[in-house]
Amino acid sequence: MAKTITKKFVPDPRPLFRIEGNAYCKILNYVKLCEREISWHGFVTRGQDDNAHIFTLHDVILFPQTVNFTYCKLTGEYYTWYKKNISIDQEFEEQCKLFGHSHITGDVSPSDCDKQYYANIVRDFVEYGDEYYIFMIMNRAEKMDLQIFDYKTMVKYYTEDIDCRIVKSIRNPAPSPIKDIRKEIEKNVSVGVYRYSG
Ligand SMILES: [Zn+2]
Repeated sequence: MAKTITKKFVPDPRPLFRIEGNAYCKILNYVKLCEREISWHGFVTRGQDDNAHIFTLHDVILFPQTVNFTYCKLTGEYYTWYKKNISIDQEFEEQCKLFGHSHITGDVSPSDCDKQYYANIVRDFVEYGDEYYIFMIMNRAEKMDLQIFDYKTMVKYYTEDIDCRIVKSIRNPAPSPIKDIRKEIEKNVSVGVYRYSG
């Protein structure tokens, strides 16, 4: 009988990605209110010791970006924005460990372009000695793709390896009104012109 490899890597315990309800609502509104692909950062904490497999997304934020139907790009203002909004507080910066973006419809798996982008971000983070980084894609049907790069265990987890749960909001107990989310989108997102480059 031919030998086949049947053993699959099974994470034990499986990573648990918790999303606070209001952060989830905000993301969903970004995805639904913006006609194009939109990106956000998220603030995540990780449990200690026996709970090191538990990651909690507390809040999300938009940064200045130019968007189109199939890509989004950081603008030159991004770094100024980062310094002013994220680096200002060490705890805040340490928790800024998620990059999410939307796919309008259909497939939520990362495109080749996304994969390249992930690789670039991860390279930067490894250089700064970070412990983990999370990527997320969501579409309007609330389908989600997740990837957790864990440098503590040197394992990369994909959606099918990760348990995901929406939990009660602790950090921002009051939901963000839709008008505030609209304002945040207007302030940060500009629509790019698609240029066919051959
Ligand atoms: Zn994408």
